[in-house]
Amino acid sequence: MPGRFSAIEQAFDREPVEAVPPARDTSSYYGCNVFNREAMRKYLSSETRMIVYESIENGVTLDKWVGEHVASGMKRWAMDMGATHYTHWFQPLTGGTAEKHDSFAEPRVAGRSLEEFSGDKLCQQEPDASSFPSGGLRNTFEARGYTAWDPSSPAFILGDCLCIPTVFISYTGEALDYKTPLMRSTSAVKRAASDVLAYFGMGDAAVSCFLGWEQEYFLVDSSLYALRPDLMLSDRTLIGHGSARNQQLDDHYFGSIPPRVMEFMKEVEFEGYKLGIPLKTRHNEVAPNQFEIAPVYEEMDLAVDHNLLLMSIMRRVADRHKFKVLFHEKPFKGINGSGKHCNWSLGTADGVSLLSPGRTDEENLRFFAFMANVLKAVHDNNGLLKASIVSASNAHRLGSSEAPPTIMSSFLGSQITAAFEELLGTDGVVKMEDKRGRGVGIPQVPELLVDNTDRNRTSPFAFTGNRFEFRAVGSSANCASPMTALNTAVAYQLRRFKEAVDGRVSAGEPVMKAVLDETREAYRASRAVCFDGNGYSGEWEEEAGRRGLDTEGSVPAVLDHFTSPGTIKMYEDTGVLSEVELRARNEVAWAHYAMKVEIESRVLSDLAYNHVIPVAIRFQNVLFDNVLKSRELFTDEEFEKYSPQELRQIKEIADYINFIRTAADDMDRMCDEFSALEGREMAVAYHDRLIPRMDSMRGYVDALENIVDDQMWPLPKYRELLFIR
Ligand code: ADP
Ligand code: MG
Repeated sequence: MPGRFSAIEQAFDREPVEAVPPARDTSSYYGCNVFNREAMRKYLSSETRMIVYESIENGVTLDKWVGEHVASGMKRWAMDMGATHYTHWFQPLTGGTAEKHDSFAEPRVAGRSLEEFSGDKLCQQEPDASSFPSGGLRNTFEARGYTAWDPSSPAFILGDCLCIPTVFISYTGEALDYKTPLMRSTSAVKRAASDVLAYFGMGDAAVSCFLGWEQEYFLVDSSLYALRPDLMLSDRTLIGHGSARNQQLDDHYFGSIPPRVMEFMKEVEFEGYKLGIPLKTRHNEVAPNQFEIAPVYEEMDLAVDHNLLLMSIMRRVADRHKFKVLFHEKPFKGINGSGKHCNWSLGTADGVSLLSPGRTDEENLRFFAFMANVLKAVHDNNGLLKASIVSASNAHRLGSSEAPPTIMSSFLGSQITAAFEELLGTDGVVKMEDKRGRGVGIPQVPELLVDNTDRNRTSPFAFTGNRFEFRAVGSSANCASPMTALNTAVAYQLRRFKEAVDGRVSAGEPVMKAVLDETREAYRASRAVCFDGNGYSGEWEEEAGRRGLDTEGSVPAVLDHFTSPGTIKMYEDTGVLSEVELRARNEVAWAHYAMKVEIESRVLSDLAYNHVIPVAIRFQNVLFDNVLKSRELFTDEEFEKYSPQELRQIKEIADYINFIRTAADDMDRMCDEFSALEGREMAVAYHDRLIPRMDSMRGYVDALENIVDDQMWPLPKYRELLFIR
């Protein structure tokens, strides 16, 4: 029977995996598995191509005949590439992605088969949607949900399958996925930004919304992983005594990448490049066996697809290298967890970043205006932004003195803060003629200093020179959730800003003065959310409460922000989600939360009864035996001298076993009891009552692990999971 020790031996004895082609040839395979413009040139007529490009750039809906043409070209391309199946690839609310493969082949009665793929099949599919969460939007007996082609994200080939990125909507048109609201929000924020840019004579500039994500993850040897039911079923270790050495030497961060991991990374990059994912950065992270991968930023809708795609590539490639990749936010207690920093910015097609200061007064005013509006959006929606990143798994990471706290605040750095404060003091005289812009009312922000903005790793939403870095996002999350909330909040705020400026202008104020005054107002009203200090400190929590920021830490309660009247108004106004959709999503989130905790609880009680208690008893028996033999062989004095400690340990073990049994029984009973509850109430019960019980159970088990014979302990320990690679 494979045990812990044979698994450890296996882990040391790995076959090398075949080498991937050298990275220097990247250009020869970059994007080769994507139906990109190059492929379109070969497989689509120029007329069709022009219409598709137009649709990609301006979101124009495609006619049916165009769909037919694209489908036929895409099919020929895919089959030339060796694909035999196709799927609509979408992002259901379960997280991750979903796909149902259909063969191109249409087997016929006469023993023949034809390859078919019509425009209809490209544009729309009807997966049996009943098993995807909808939060009650779709009764299971009326399981119609449609996936609809999103031409803005290029189709790609994964294995033998043509994958067509799609949105997933119900029969009645409500969004059942992450992609639909994301796309609505990017278009809302681009439109709103473009309207504000008009004040600066840039009303015609096409605005882009960018995302550059940084994906953190752990790697664990797969034979050790297979011996951890908790990792296999709940993606994190539910028990495990801390390793004597973990990250305290700070020797892993940016250290040299272990060779076996390097082979894995190279193959991930190779597979990613073939799919046109612009991967750029790889390095070790803070914790042992923790790493990061990041691409160059892209248009947000595509960047989100690429992140999800990369996550599935990483899982597949890890298997080939006998690793398991862990995206859970906190797979190991006591060491750093994983996040997915989302670098967010707005810019124009010709490369102007709206979050970079410029050289002229006008450019700087534009910078301050956009900055102030983002800050105001974050200020007014700090609770909502938190709601957009909370989950059962991210809850273990947030606020545990190594990750952003559960309070949303924004770090600006001393330069920008000083400039903003100066802006409040200026008299509002704006001379736009002075193109060098020195000393005419708008503070200058030296470019060089902005690029070097002092780093503050404790801030959940930090300004980093030309973008905001939303750091609170969890590593397993779909970035679409936080990005949708942020885009929506900024779009809504930019619209309010525009209304206010227009109001001033119609009352006779000069445009630039009106923009400056409203920028001041927006910044003044956002000061409470600006915080450059140590976000991990206890004082900040108190201070944040005084400033009126949301300090709630319970996931089910934080989710309420999604259905507050303010949020509903904002989402409806910007056309991102309706009240019905928002409420449905919260139902999904609460149910998901409760299920996650229930699974963990059941796995933990299972581990307790089947793994931990039997081993503790076995070890206790060894001690019992020893004491009995001591009694026989030692004199009374010797026994008095040598055996009391052992007897104490026997009782200690007996106590732990008792505690563990009681906790496991309690947990099982609670799970049974809570299954009668629903929605929010159920999630709250799991959060408030079950999780504390799981925590105390863990304490007893970890204490046992520390005293039971290592040879007997059935589960790989932290030191093995984290240091064997
Ligand atoms: P760090 O870890 O120092 O924050 P990384 O280089 O790991 O930086 O990642 C930074 C990410 O931010 C990359 O994905 C990068 O492409 C992205 N990024 C850089 N500039 C912008 C921008 N203007 N808008 C959005 N993302 C950006
Ligand atoms: Mg970063």
